[in-house]
Amino acid sequence: MLLRTIVIAGGGFSGVVTAANLLRRPPAGPTRLVLIERGAHLGRGVAYADWKFPYLLNVPASRMSASSAAPNQFLQFAQRRLPQVTGEDFLPRSLYGEYLQEVLLAAQLSAPSNIRLEIMHAEVLNIRRIERHLPLQVELSGGARLTADDVVLALGNPPPSSIPAASAVLDHPAYTNDPWCAEFQFDRPQNVMLIGTGLTAVDVINRASHDPLFTPTIHAVSRHGLVPPRQTAFRPDAFKGDGNALLLAASRSLRGLTSAVRLLASEAERCGGDWREAVTFVRNMAPTIWQRLPERDRVRFLRHLRAQWDVHRHRLPPQMLHRVESLRNNGRLHVHAARIQRLQPQGTRVEATWIERHSGQTRSQTFDRIVNCTGPDYDIARSTHSLWRNILQCGLCVPDSLGLGLRTGPGGAVIDANGWPGPHLFYVGPMLRADHWEATAVGELRVHAERLAAVLSEGR
Ligand SMILES: Cc1cc2nc3c(=O)[nH]c(=O)nc-3n(C[C@H](O)[C@H](O)[C@H](O)COP(=O)(O)OP(=O)(O)OC[C@H]3O[C@@H](n4cnc5c(N)ncnc54)[C@H](O)[C@@H]3O)c2cc1C
Repeated sequence: MLLRTIVIAGGGFSGVVTAANLLRRPPAGPTRLVLIERGAHLGRGVAYADWKFPYLLNVPASRMSASSAAPNQFLQFAQRRLPQVTGEDFLPRSLYGEYLQEVLLAAQLSAPSNIRLEIMHAEVLNIRRIERHLPLQVELSGGARLTADDVVLALGNPPPSSIPAASAVLDHPAYTNDPWCAEFQFDRPQNVMLIGTGLTAVDVINRASHDPLFTPTIHAVSRHGLVPPRQTAFRPDAFKGDGNALLLAASRSLRGLTSAVRLLASEAERCGGDWREAVTFVRNMAPTIWQRLPERDRVRFLRHLRAQWDVHRHRLPPQMLHRVESLRNNGRLHVHAARIQRLQPQGTRVEATWIERHSGQTRSQTFDRIVNCTGPDYDIARSTHSLWRNILQCGLCVPDSLGLGLRTGPGGAVIDANGWPGPHLFYVGPMLRADHWEATAVGELRVHAERLAAVLSEGR
C-alpha cells in the first residue's frame, strides 16, 4: 500500500488533539503524520503558553478534558501533580499546556505501527493545489516543501485587529496592539488604558496587578462596559430545558429566541439552579440554532446581542473576579461604557478621547500605556498571516460573509472559491464559529478534532 501523508499546520490545542486522535485510531494503510508548529512548544498557543504570570483557566478542571470519551482526563493528570486538586478548581493555563504535551506523547507511544508521527518546527507559508484530486504542496519557512495527501489547518487564534481610532498611534511605543506579543512593565504611578473589558482585558489586569507595589491605575473601556461575571460550580448537565421550544423560537425571530433564553434562565433559577446552567444548555444547542438563523438575524445578533451573549457565556474564575472587584473598590480600576474617539501621540505618552455611553460626555486623558484587549480577530479577509493571505488569494478558501472565520463543509472540509468543499484540505479551530457560532473553547473544539480525525481515518 502507498504511504499516505497527513500534514497538520499548527500545534496548539486543535492540532495536537487532532494528531492524538489520529494516532489512536489511524487510517488503515501506512501513514506519515506531520505536525508543524512555528513556535518552540507544542500544545501551547496563546492560551496555554508558559507565561511568567499565573493565568488561570476560565473553566473548572473537571470540564477541561481534551477527550470527550474520558471527561476526567485533565483532572486526573492534574491530580498526579497536585493531589489536593478538585474538579471545581481553576488551574493554571500553563499546566494545561503540559497536559496537552502528555496527551500527544501518550498517543504517540501507544500508536499502532502503521502510523508514524513527525514533529517539525517551522512556519507553514503556503499550500498549493495543482489539480483537484492531486496531493497538496506545503511550503515551509526555510525553503522546505512537503507533498501531502491531506492538510489540516489548525492555525488558531489570530492577533487582534487595531481599532480605527488608534490609526495615529500604531507605531507609538506606548501603544500595544497585541498583548500576547509584547513584553511590557507596569508601574504604580502609571495610567494605563485597556481597550476592551472582556477576558483579554482581565488577563492584562491580572498581569498589571500581579504585584500590588507596581499596580498602575487602569481604565478599561468598551462600548457596553460589561465585565464578565463569576464562573460557578454549577452542574452543566443538570438543567433540562426545552430544546424544541428554543429551536421553534429561533426559526421565528431573534426577538422570540431572546425571550426564550431569558425564560430558560429564570426557570433554572426558579428551580433552585443557576442561570449559567441555562446558558450552557443554549450553548450546546448554539450550532443548530445558528445554522437555522437567516443571515439577516445573524447580522442583527452580532450587532445588538453579541456583547450580552459573550459576557454571560465567557466567565471568570472567582479569584479573578475578586481581584477585579477589589481593584475597582480601591480606585485602581475604572470601567467605562464608552466609545473611543481618537488616540493621539503626546510625546512619550498617548492622549485618549472617548465619549461616555450614558452621559454623552467627551473625556480626554493622557496614558503611559494603551493596550488593545479586543481579542482575536477572526476575519481572515484582513489577516496579515502569510498562509491565510496566500490560500485566500489562490481561492483554496473563502472568508464567511460576517467576518467570523472561513466557510467549511462537513467534517471541517474547507470550502474553496468555487463553493466546493475541497477533498483534502480541512480546518479545525475557533474560526469554525462562522458555521457553528460556539466553537472557541475546549468543550467544542475537542469534538471537532475527534470528528475530523475520524473523517481522515475512515473517509478514504
Ligand atoms: C488567552 C486565551 C485563553 C483561553 N482560555 C481558555 C480556557 O481557559 N478554557 C477553554 O476552554 N478555552 C480557552 N481558550 C480558547 C482557546 O481558543 C482554545 O481552548 C484553544 O486554545 C484553541 O486552540 P487552537 O489550536 O485552535 O489555537 P491556538 O492555541 O492559537 O494554536 C494555534 C497554533 O498554531 C501555530 N501556528 C499558527 N500559524 C502557523 C503557521 N503558519 N505555521 C505553523 N504553525 C502555526 C501557533 O503558533 C499556535 O501554536 C482561550 C483562548 C485564549 C486566546
